[in-house]
Amino acid sequence: MHNLSQDIERVLLSERELGGICDALAAQLAGQYADSGRELVFVAVLKGSFVFAADLLRRIPFPCALEFMKVSSYGAESHSSGFIQVHLDLKRSVEGADVVILEDIIDSGRTLQKLSGLLAGRGAHSVRCCTLLDKPARREVKFEADFVGRCIPDVFVVGYGLDYSERYRNLPYVGVLSPTVYAGKT
Ligand code: 5GP
Ligand code: MG
Repeated sequence: MHNLSQDIERVLLSERELGGICDALAAQLAGQYADSGRELVFVAVLKGSFVFAADLLRRIPFPCALEFMKVSSYGAESHSSGFIQVHLDLKRSVEGADVVILEDIIDSGRTLQKLSGLLAGRGAHSVRCCTLLDKPARREVKFEADFVGRCIPDVFVVGYGLDYSERYRNLPYVGVLSPTVYAGKT
């Protein structure tokens, strides 16, 4: 059997630490939205945020909706600030709602910058972003999330929903992928 753990150089965030991060984020979200009087719609960005979304939402004790989007962003090679392609869109309106986008990790910042602009343009009362992980050193556009689980260094991580070539999403922790796994493949 190929045990996925053998491809992990080191564990960055254990299951226990991830639980603590979700507790802290849920408390921040409660402070912001528990008594807003508006509908709260979480928009989880597929596929990477699915584990994070499941753990976070089970810590939210007040009414909220969950929707999914699948998007990809492109660099600035042909467009001054990049653009976003929507592969799976919402099936509902977010007009008047408080929207919180759930993302696994922010890298260049392009995905969330574009996606939050797109949803704000659909008449949401507010659009905020909640990310499990943030790599500020990699930012290419000016973008900051409203709720950040943990800032991490510029390393490639997998697990807890995050993949490399569609693998490793099922690891229960976030780990640094051993460079030997992708050596010669890029
Ligand atoms: P950006 O912020 O550059 O628009 O894109 C963020 C996306 O890049 C994430 O949602 C994720 O799909 C991917 N990404 C960035 N850094 C990593 C990483 O360290 N590991 C994995 N698995 N994906 C990453
Ligand atoms: Mg992602």
